Amino acid sequence: MGDRRHFIKNAALGTLGVSTLLSCKRETKSVVSTAVSGDKKGTKPLIISTWNHGLPANEEAWNQLKAGKSGLDAIVAGVGIPEADPKVRSVGYGGYPDREGKVTLDACIMDSNSDCGAVSFLQNIKHPIAVAQKVLENTPHVMLTGSGALQFAKEQGFKEENLLTEASEKDWKNWLEKSKYQPVINIENHDTISMLVIDENGDITGGCTTSGAAWKMHGRVGDSPIIGAGLFLDNEVGAAAATGLGEAVIRTAGSAMVVELMRQGKSPDEACKEIVERIYNKHKNHKDMEYLQVGFIAVNKTGEYGGYSLRSGFNYAVYDEENGNRMEDSKFKMTWDN
Ligand code: ASP
Repeated sequence: MGDRRHFIKNAALGTLGVSTLLSCKRETKSVVSTAVSGDKKGTKPLIISTWNHGLPANEEAWNQLKAGKSGLDAIVAGVGIPEADPKVRSVGYGGYPDREGKVTLDACIMDSNSDCGAVSFLQNIKHPIAVAQKVLENTPHVMLTGSGALQFAKEQGFKEENLLTEASEKDWKNWLEKSKYQPVINIENHDTISMLVIDENGDITGGCTTSGAAWKMHGRVGDSPIIGAGLFLDNEVGAAAATGLGEAVIRTAGSAMVVELMRQGKSPDEACKEIVERIYNKHKNHKDMEYLQVGFIAVNKTGEYGGYSLRSGFNYAVYDEENGNRMEDSKFKMTWDN
C-alpha cells in the first residue's frame, strides 16, 4: 500500500534526519532509518532517490506514475520538489553558491531508450531537470552548458529568477572570511538528488539535479550532469546514480561502472560496493581523501535495489507498493574517523 500514511510517517523521520546530520557535524550514526540495505527486492513500480529530500520527491513522482505519466515526467515533477525548496541547500533554488556568490546548477535525465539530456553550469533557472528533459526531447544534443543552456531554457519558456536566497548569501559571506575550500560532504556540501524509476513494465528512467559542491570555483561542473558519471542506465540491465564528491565519481566513470558490474551478474549492492572500493583505492593517497565521500544507489531489471557509500551517513528513499515510502541507510566502508 503506497499511501500517504507511509509518507507522512517517514517524512517526519526524514526531517529529523536532516537536522540531525546538520547539527551533529561528523556524527556518524543516522537516526533516520531502522532498515539497512542489502540487495532488497522491491515490487514494480519502484522509485529510489538519494538522501532525505528523496521522500517528498518520491511521493510526487509516485503520484505522477499512478496518474499515468511517463518515468521522465515523474522524475521531473519529483525532483522538482527539492529544486524549488529553499531549505534544501544543495539543489536548485536556495542551493549554496560558488565562491563568487553565483548559484550554478547541473542536471541530467535519461530514459529507457538511452536517450538523454543534460544541462551544466546553468544559472537563474529554478528547474534545471526540466530543461534537461527539453534538451532530450527538443534538441539533437545531449548537453547544453552555461549561457547556451540559459538561452535554450528561455527559448523553451523558462523564466529567469534569482536563486540565491538570503540564507545562502549569508552563508557565502561567512565562508568568504576564510575562503577555505574543503568540502564537508554529508553536511553542507553534498546532496544531489538522484532518482531512479522502474515502472510496472520494468522500464527504467533516471535523473539527477544539484547545485553542486558549495564554494566551488566559478565554472566548475560536477558529475551530476555527466551521463556515465552521476547517472547511467541500460534498460536491459539496470540503473545507477551517484552523490558525493563529483570529481571522484568522474575520475572513475562511477555510475556506468556500477551498471556494467550488474550486467556481469553483481547485485546492486555488490556493484555499488565494488565501485566504492575502487574509488577508495584510487584516492587513498589523494589530496581529496580527507573529505572524500561518495555514495551510489542502484536498481536492476528485476527490482532488486541497493546502495553503498564510502563513509557513513548516506541514506536514500525507496518507494514501492508493498512497503510505501521510506528511508533506508546505506552500507558503508568506513566512518568519518578513518
Ligand atoms: N555530486 C555533486 C557534485 O559533485 C555533489 C553531491 O552530490 O554531493 O557536484
